[in-house]
Amino acid sequence: TAPSESGGGAPAVPTTAPTTAPTTAPTLPDGSSLLIAWAIALELRTKYEPAARAKLAAHWKHVWLQGQLDLMLDSLLEALPLSAEQMGALESGAVPGGSSSRRVTDLVSGALSLGRVAAVCEDVLAQHGALASPSLMELAASLYLQLLRELPALVRDWWSHKLPSRGVGASLAKFTEAYCSPKLLRDEIDGIVSAIGATDESFKMALVLPSCHPLRAVEVQCLQRVGISDARWRKWQRQISTMLLSQNGQISDALVLWKQNVDKVFEGVEECPICYMIIHASTGHLPRLECKTCHNKFHSACLYKWFTGSQKSTCPLCQTTWS
Ligand SMILES: [Zn+2]
Ligand SMILES: [Zn+2]
Repeated sequence: TAPSESGGGAPAVPTTAPTTAPTTAPTLPDGSSLLIAWAIALELRTKYEPAARAKLAAHWKHVWLQGQLDLMLDSLLEALPLSAEQMGALESGAVPGGSSSRRVTDLVSGALSLGRVAAVCEDVLAQHGALASPSLMELAASLYLQLLRELPALVRDWWSHKLPSRGVGASLAKFTEAYCSPKLLRDEIDGIVSAIGATDESFKMALVLPSCHPLRAVEVQCLQRVGISDARWRKWQRQISTMLLSQNGQISDALVLWKQNVDKVFEGVEECPICYMIIHASTGHLPRLECKTCHNKFHSACLYKWFTGSQKSTCPLCQTTWS
């Protein structure tokens, strides 16, 4: 029962007692407890109303931006089957290290019920939280799929800027493309069809979804437009792209938001001169802060960003000091 018996690729956790060893109750090692906690949190989030989900996403974004999720993401990277050997096993249809009855399709099932999470927890506890355990790998794979589904903008940002190396980024993209994107795209397409609804012959656009969705951005193309000027189309294209990039939700959510934007234009509400949107892409607010001199209205989030970026508090348009 030597504690160094864990072997394999799992990093050796120093077992010599450090002089400053905390005497509090031990948590699961290697961040596996974080993965479990997040799997539960994301599973619960799916049961909330859209408005509450958006609030939760905004909160998580805040926590994320402060770098407080880095440990969870590091653990996620470590638990996912991303090594050449594990990827090879996946391609042959087997779960690396798992029993032969486990299938890859089960591995990235996405639907991780709370009952299943509990079972995984017991399993992980029995194995002392080793990140190489097949059930933790399964949990990590499902958690990753859920993160891609619920917080795509955050995961995209993490994937493009925060991974330890290009090699890891490429492996993660490969894993995503093979096991996550097909599921996500299927759901997205169903959602888009119901979001757009009846087609209008005068305007058709195409969304080109990348094969490793949502790690790469969606491309917005115009197929047909009658009576819509170049300038208007370019504005729409910019708006849709912004919505798609900043939304932590499904593509259909972003499209619904954009459609509401277009409807507001017809109601006579004016766009925020900073982001060219009426409904702010991530806060969902209308432009309410009015300049007393030029009477343009801005989103509070946009104005705040402008003030901090320019380090002065003047109106972006007329340059008068904001009061
Ligand atoms: Zn704005
Ligand atoms: Zn002004």
